[in-house]
Amino acid sequence: MRMPEQGFEMVEVFERMQEIRAADADWREGKTFGYVYDAGPDVEEVAKRAYMMFLSENALDPTVYPSLLKFEVDIVSMARDHLHGDAQVTGNFTSGGTESCMLAVKTARDHARAHRPDIGQPEMVMPVTAHAAFYKAAHYFGVKPVVVPVDRDTFRANPRAMQDAITPNTVLLVASAVSYAHGVMDPIADIGRIALKSGVLFHVDGCIGAFLLPYFRRFGADIPHFDFRVPGVTSISMDLHKYAYCPKGASLLLYRNKEIRFHQIFTCSEWTGYTVINHTFQSSKSGGPVAAAWAVMNYLGDEGYTRLARQVYDATLEVRRGIEAIDDLHVLGTPEMSLLAVASDSVNVFHVIDEMKSRGWYLQPQLRTGDCPENFHLSINPSNAPVIGALLEDLGACTAAARKLDAGGVDHELLKVLSGLSVEMLTPETVTSMLETVGVKGGRVPERMAAINGILNALPPPVANRLLTVFMNEMFHPAE
Ligand SMILES: *Cc1c(COP(=O)(O)O)cnc(C)c1O
Repeated sequence: MRMPEQGFEMVEVFERMQEIRAADADWREGKTFGYVYDAGPDVEEVAKRAYMMFLSENALDPTVYPSLLKFEVDIVSMARDHLHGDAQVTGNFTSGGTESCMLAVKTARDHARAHRPDIGQPEMVMPVTAHAAFYKAAHYFGVKPVVVPVDRDTFRANPRAMQDAITPNTVLLVASAVSYAHGVMDPIADIGRIALKSGVLFHVDGCIGAFLLPYFRRFGADIPHFDFRVPGVTSISMDLHKYAYCPKGASLLLYRNKEIRFHQIFTCSEWTGYTVINHTFQSSKSGGPVAAAWAVMNYLGDEGYTRLARQVYDATLEVRRGIEAIDDLHVLGTPEMSLLAVASDSVNVFHVIDEMKSRGWYLQPQLRTGDCPENFHLSINPSNAPVIGALLEDLGACTAAARKLDAGGVDHELLKVLSGLSVEMLTPETVTSMLETVGVKGGRVPERMAAINGILNALPPPVANRLLTVFMNEMFHPAE
């Protein structure tokens, strides 16, 4: 595409955009699990109006737009209350869960630099189920990830193993409430005790769970404390763009106190321009996300969130019962919330995903890791509630259909070749031609993904990472 010599009429621009979005997942039908956390048209309208109202305002300098500062502080205050923090607890609004988790790691590293300057190579101890954002933080900030296996039945972090992994270089422990992959809560209180005893910071990743769990607890679910009531917890991340139904670009990172948060802030008065004081990664940033989050939280209130949480709670029970009634499928672990990982001993789950996609449903594939088998993931949200019956019916039919397809679905020749190669041998050219043999070309994937998922599933992670990196490099490249 070239920039048009002369701009188009406004209507034409929007017509083009409608055409371009034709292949997008239609989340309004309730057939997408995850990606969009939909609480209905009224909440969407509130979010859009507030977002547009502050779209152009810049949160770069809070003294220029005190409204944006107020929104952020109000939201942090509501969140602190939600997570039972005292008056010392503080925090910031970030662009998403990844930013919140990464900032927590950066803060821990810099806190250690200030308080334990003897540490050369900082380390963080985390269960293998910790979100990819922590692996990303490790990569970006030079913190060594010390990854510990989880219990093979419950998929919960193992406190003993975490304790044993602590060294004089440990600067942070990480656990999830709840984990994304299996929706299970790590033993936060036990890990908190270890953190206190060892004198290291402890981040609880509540990106997906922290907002919703307190509601599930009120409905009678057996949910242990995971928040600031737990001694040893020093920071918590909580996404608002998941179960608080705010538009994307909305998460929080809360700290036990300002002394810890101090190490998050970056200031630069060295350069020739305006003085930069950034509490998060972004510098110039739209006021839209923070304004919309403030609006949605004030619009829904505790009553609105209780009503929505109830829908999710009931829908999750229904999905769980339904899946357990399908002979070939089972739910992994004992999920506490509304996230389910579904595996099978008898059918290829990647075929199930493809079959479901042909009927308009989007389920997320999760690859095999260690003791955890490949599975598909559902994050249930209110818009799914009315279609659970249809979901279960199609899931039954699609599982039966998948049973008839060849179990592996993998190109064994290709797999053999790939497994025999080292990462260094996988040059972009080699990978590109190999991917073409399974229908991946020019950054486009085929309609049915089972063959590709099967290959990724069977490869060692460094090799799979290489393949995916080459693929991404192709995908975001303009055609000639
Ligand atoms: C979603 C999620 C993240 C990452 O959040 P993004 O908003 O996608 O960047 C981190 N941790 C957990 C547990 C999550 O569910």
